[in-house]
Order: sequence, then C-alpha cells, then structure tokens
Amino acid sequence: MKILKPRFVSPELKLLRFLHSRMGFPIDDLRRFENLEKGFKGEQQFDIWSEDILIDGLILNDLLFEVNNTVFQIDSVLISQGTLFQFEVKNYEGDYYLEGDKWFTLSGSTIRNPLHQLERSETMLKQLLQNNGYNMHIESYLIFINPNFHLYNAPINPSIIFPTQLTRFMDKLNRTPSKLNGGHSKLAETLVSKQTFQSPYKRLPNYDYNRLEKGICCPHCRTFVDVTLKCKCGFEEAPSAAILRSIEEFRWLFPDEKITTNRIYEWCKGNKSIRTIRRILANNFEYEGYGKPGHYIVPIEFNRAVR
Ligand SMILES: [Zn+2]
Repeated sequence: MKILKPRFVSPELKLLRFLHSRMGFPIDDLRRFENLEKGFKGEQQFDIWSEDILIDGLILNDLLFEVNNTVFQIDSVLISQGTLFQFEVKNYEGDYYLEGDKWFTLSGSTIRNPLHQLERSETMLKQLLQNNGYNMHIESYLIFINPNFHLYNAPINPSIIFPTQLTRFMDKLNRTPSKLNGGHSKLAETLVSKQTFQSPYKRLPNYDYNRLEKGICCPHCRTFVDVTLKCKCGFEEAPSAAILRSIEEFRWLFPDEKITTNRIYEWCKGNKSIRTIRRILANNFEYEGYGKPGHYIVPIEFNRAVR
C-alpha cells in the first residue's frame, strides 16, 4: 500500500487553532472547532490503523470534489485492482442509539445519519468517475474508529465497521486480490486533479487584529509562552523557530496585511527584541520597497513545520 496523498491539518482547522488561542469563540463556532478537532484526531487514528493494509493499493486522503454544483468530501480512498474503497471515518464517542433511521446521542439530541452521508458521497463519486471515463466498482464503509463508541439497536449493515470489527475488516481487506498497473495510477492522478477548493475563511468566527491577544503560542498546547520560550507543557524552541511560527500564524490570519518588523514585534508581544525580529525577517524573506513603507514578502506556505 502506498499513500499517494497524505493527510494534513485542513487550512480551516489550522486557522481555528490559531484564533482559538487568541480570542473567545461564540458557542456555535466553539462546537464546530471541537468537532473538527475531534474528527481530525479520528482520521489520524484511522491513518495509523490503515498502515496495516498490505495489498497493492493507493491511498488518497482528504479529497474535496464538486459534482452537479454540490461539494462533497471523502476522508480516505483506497484504490485496489478491481475496487475503489471509500472510507468515511467517525470519531464518535460514548453511547448512541437508533430509532428507525434516526441517530441519537444518549442524551437525546439527533445527529445527521452518517449512512445517508456515505451513500450520498458514493453516488457523487460514481458520477465523478463516470464523467471522467471510469467505471470502477465502489465499496463504501463507515468506520467508527473510537473504541469507546457504542450504538444501541445497531442494524446488520456490512457498510458499518464498528471498533470491535476493525481487526477482522483489516483481514478482509488484506485478502483482496490486487495488482495495480499504470491505469490505476492514472485514476489516482485524475482524482487528485479533479479536486475543488473552498476558502477556509468563509466559516470562521469574526475576528479583528486589535481584539486578538498578542504573543507567541506553544505549537503543542497552544498556550502563550513568555520571553524564555519555554512552555509549561515542556516544549522549548529556538527564537527563530518561534518567531517564524508566529509570522506564519499572522500570515494565515491576515493574508492581506503587510508584514513589517513593527507588526511582528507587536504580534509577538515584545517577547523578542525588535532587532531579533528584524534579523529573522531579513534572513528569511525578501524585502520590498526600501525606505519607510517597506515590507517583507512572505509566502503563505513557507513554514512546513506548521501543520
Ligand atoms: Zn505547550
């Protein structure tokens, strides 16, 4: 098995993480942020689990498509010789129950039926493949990755893989006969190239520079560090790494703002001297406009360490 498209933190989750350390969220945004964070953790668990897939196959993660003016997202796809497996990963935790085809948490709140979501994306994926001249057999699975999930009144449905079935499901996958050829790589490339883009800024809570808390955040626990750059969680980093991360956060949150020494000094709340900030900016970025209103040219994806 080869991972052709690895999974990263989505731009939206990344932005929400940056913001959440620096401002309070309205309840709806907070819930959304927590759900995205939880979903991502589940997907990471799935990625660890899927390392045991041994067949000749290609894995593509986090695919976003638009078919018939509808945008849909697929957590993971496994291309094998004769079948394209689609996986929707759910990190539900605790007790849930079913009444007819309605899903509830034990406290009685309804959730969207994840099977409908799975069927919908299978239909769209089939359509997308057909539009591009492929007629591949698709199998879709809803993977409940969290061992602390339980569903009362669970139906007998081979598309649902409960935590206790994951090992057997892996055995089944690994018995799939598969020998890939150039056509499969072509299919994978087509899927990657047919992706759509959605702005990560559309659904963020409202924020403005003046009201955000300034300072340098620890990349692990997201609390602010002091001038020593030693976090309470034990994380420690060099000034240049901490400043570059902070520049990246600023760049993501304010893509239209110019990056200047003073701005970054203020953004880091004076945790490092203005001289240090100027040196780090000058060492890493090109300067445009000599004289007073100059600024540094900072590409948005310059820091691969921020994921
Ligand atoms: Zn920390």
